[in-house]
Amino acid sequence: MRATRAVIHLDYLRKNISLVKEGTKRLLCMPVKADAYGHGVLPVARAALAAGADYLAVATVREGEELREGGVDAPVLLLSIPLPAEINALVGADLEVLAGDADYLDALESAAGTAGKRVPVHLKIDTGMGRIGCTPESAPDLAEKIARSRHMRLAGCATHLAVSDSLAAADIAYTKQQIALFTGAVGAIKARGIDPAIVHAANTGAVTFHEDSWFTMVRPGILLYGYPPEGKSALIDTAAIRPLMELKTNIVYIKFVRKGQSVSYGRIWTAAEDTHVGTLPLGYADGLSRLLSNNWSVLAGNRLCPLAGRICMDQCMIDLGAEPPARWDEVSVFGGGAPHAGILARRINTIPYEVTCGINKRVPRVYA
Ligand SMILES: *Cc1c(COP(=O)(O)O)cnc(C)c1O
Repeated sequence: MRATRAVIHLDYLRKNISLVKEGTKRLLCMPVKADAYGHGVLPVARAALAAGADYLAVATVREGEELREGGVDAPVLLLSIPLPAEINALVGADLEVLAGDADYLDALESAAGTAGKRVPVHLKIDTGMGRIGCTPESAPDLAEKIARSRHMRLAGCATHLAVSDSLAAADIAYTKQQIALFTGAVGAIKARGIDPAIVHAANTGAVTFHEDSWFTMVRPGILLYGYPPEGKSALIDTAAIRPLMELKTNIVYIKFVRKGQSVSYGRIWTAAEDTHVGTLPLGYADGLSRLLSNNWSVLAGNRLCPLAGRICMDQCMIDLGAEPPARWDEVSVFGGGAPHAGILARRINTIPYEVTCGINKRVPRVYA
């Protein structure tokens, strides 16, 4: 195996899941879309289910099929809208869907009829995310359409929150308003004598800060991968949440560099003193953002060593100082003993999701 690898700590996943399960006492849906946020879908899905997750969620039909091909028989919820041409496949893979429009429901009804199945539908109500879903006013009619159909079953009601991870007063008010609209719509469905089944709204921010959003199931993603939102939670012990991903590599080359010599493309780094520079077999083509050039430090030989110069496609350099560790020594780029992907994300103005999803297929995942 190549030196550069992402070590995925499944024991931390089990811990994070039990913290959330014990904290919320609700059904737990674990989003494993985008290859489990870059952590590798099958090992994560299997560990999550063994640790007590009740549902998995994916974004594409293909992701759902991959779970089925991997032998996962737990409920899998498709979060995004597929093309009409993909509907037979999703029915074939026994996926559950989030749906909130009559066209999609009609297509599901007809595909499930042809297959001789009943497709479980979670009615998606748009309470202010503005992405997919029906208006709260139209929810009861659509719930009735599903409940009265021959080949669909109302398996749940759901909404998605836009700013639940923010503690700014205006954002808290917006989240409360979304929760109120959702509660009203679910109440109107019940008033028609229809069982709303599993009621779910809470992503990471809402699990962390908004107990009134938990209903009967929660769907936190990034929290379970180890990155709570900023701010103190009265609900979840976020200090005990651990990041799963550690990006590791080895120093493949070390050289002595004189004061004033430059390193890498563009010559944006020159040695301030005589030093040693190590080369790592890791670059932006592995998902290490080039924006981290001269702007991140890795853990090498028990010390944080700054990146030296531009990150190249497949390699980058680090300043090892006067007394370098040994050639071939291990390095943690983020996670493990080094600052985690959430801290790295802030450094380059993005979110941990983008960092872990960005570590791509060229980097083998190793499960610990
Ligand atoms: C991705 C996703 C989640 C999880 O979001 P996090 O911010 O990772 O907690 C929950 N619900 C839906 C609909 C999603 O698309």
